[in-house]
Amino acid sequence: TEPKSSKKVWKNNPVIIVKTLLLKNTEEDIKTAAELLKNGGVEGIPTETVYGLAADALNPEAVKKIFKAKGRPGDNPLIVHICDFSDIERLNLVTKIPDTAKKLADAFWPGPLTMIMKKSDVIPNEVSAGLDTVAIRFPSHKTAQAIIRESGTVLAAPSANISGSPSPTTAQHVMNDMDGKIDAVLDGGASEVGLESTVITLAGDVPRVLRPGGITVEMLESVLGKVEVDDAVLHKLADNVKVASPGMKYKHYAPKADMVIVDGTRKHVIAKINELVASHRDDGKKIAVIATEETKQFYDADVVLSMGSRADEDSIAHELYRILRDCDELDVDVIFSESFSTPRIGQAIMNRMLKAAGHQVIDTHVKYDKIIFVAQTGTCREQMAKGIMNDFVLKVPMEIEARGLVVQFPEPVNQKAEAVLISNGISTEGMVSTQLEESDITESTMVFTMESSQRERIIESFADIDPEQVFVLSQYVGDELEILDPYGGTLQSYGLCYESLRATLKKLVKRLNANT
Ligand code: AMP
Ligand code: MG
Repeated sequence: TEPKSSKKVWKNNPVIIVKTLLLKNTEEDIKTAAELLKNGGVEGIPTETVYGLAADALNPEAVKKIFKAKGRPGDNPLIVHICDFSDIERLNLVTKIPDTAKKLADAFWPGPLTMIMKKSDVIPNEVSAGLDTVAIRFPSHKTAQAIIRESGTVLAAPSANISGSPSPTTAQHVMNDMDGKIDAVLDGGASEVGLESTVITLAGDVPRVLRPGGITVEMLESVLGKVEVDDAVLHKLADNVKVASPGMKYKHYAPKADMVIVDGTRKHVIAKINELVASHRDDGKKIAVIATEETKQFYDADVVLSMGSRADEDSIAHELYRILRDCDELDVDVIFSESFSTPRIGQAIMNRMLKAAGHQVIDTHVKYDKIIFVAQTGTCREQMAKGIMNDFVLKVPMEIEARGLVVQFPEPVNQKAEAVLISNGISTEGMVSTQLEESDITESTMVFTMESSQRERIIESFADIDPEQVFVLSQYVGDELEILDPYGGTLQSYGLCYESLRATLKKLVKRLNANT
């Protein structure tokens, strides 16, 4: 079995070294750093993603020192860092530069993207861990570029942590893991991104993402067209599955404490974490909760750590490893963490967190069984939405309702809306306006309003309803425009309203079906 604590890894991997120099971000120290690398040394260098543990990629003996210092399994290949796209050709690193690589380099280099290509004989087997491919990255960090340039070679550099533990985002983190085991660390300040690069392989027929990062799949697709995402990115693989990227099979990014992620809406996550904290406290454990600025006040654990505001994804990415390392420093026994499926780099963040937690996730999501569409009068958009929705097929059937916020007495559906529905083959039989009541909304109801003011009104009027089960329809499916009220308009404007509702609901159905 794999050793859990980093200390054990170290004991099993005795490395004889020297005093580790702490270098500064000055011209002189950059020269010293480059000189050490030229002479086969191994050292921590800053990059925009995380700190790297660098050695001359073309010198097998130097590369071996990286594996030793990290306690890295020999079958996990290293990324080669260059300081100009032309290095690939000049040093003959690959057999052929694919067109896709040129396109991606134009768009994202220098930056947090690693590309895998077919390697040439110039790349030692130590670097590629016996594979016939090599991973290459051109970092944007000016100091990293300067060190590579000064060294006159290219640098193999995995993250500068002991294998299995969270990646280092400061020179101090590197010192904590590597002091006495490597020649030097150059302090270039905290890493800006805080998560490792996106890894994409261009060695197969279709480009495939092996590790998500700050360069998202959408960004890659905007340049390449279709891009595949490897299964290992978000799922725990069975032991017998052969992985494309050897690194993905190892326990990773893990703090020493046992970590559990709690997923769901805010209210349920907070309740569940507090319940877990209470039960573990009885066992005398030291407990940390990983929360956000918005939620930290709701927890009562020994340590409550904030990843920043949920609205600021970059901050969450940036804080993740620091916080996991803080948990080590504070010697906590158990970590309960909120989950962070944020829109842009959420996949990259969750990929790291799931590995850190060994895929221990508690899902508190409610299984929804009812949808209520809500607008003002209960006679128009909400009824059209209900009619259209019943026309689609949900994998798990849900009850569909329409309600108005202000309904004095039951009225039939608006005549023009009715005309449009009927001309589209949707029956309006039994459609009458009905006032939305608090009792209509159970724990397992999703409420969709047409306008954001309607959502606010529901949340204000019904204090006991969880705001997280009330959505603005357009926002939920990622549309920019709300569904506008056609009231008072021509028959044609009701027709347009129908069409935009239909397009939006199609997305809603797709999303609901994807979740089941
Ligand atoms: P690290 O530098 O520690 O962040 O890890 C580099 C990641 O890139 C690991 O997950 C490696 O397995 C992966 N990697 C490096 N070279 C290759 C390659 N030639 N083919 C597939 N994956 C690679
Ligand atoms: Mg790593």
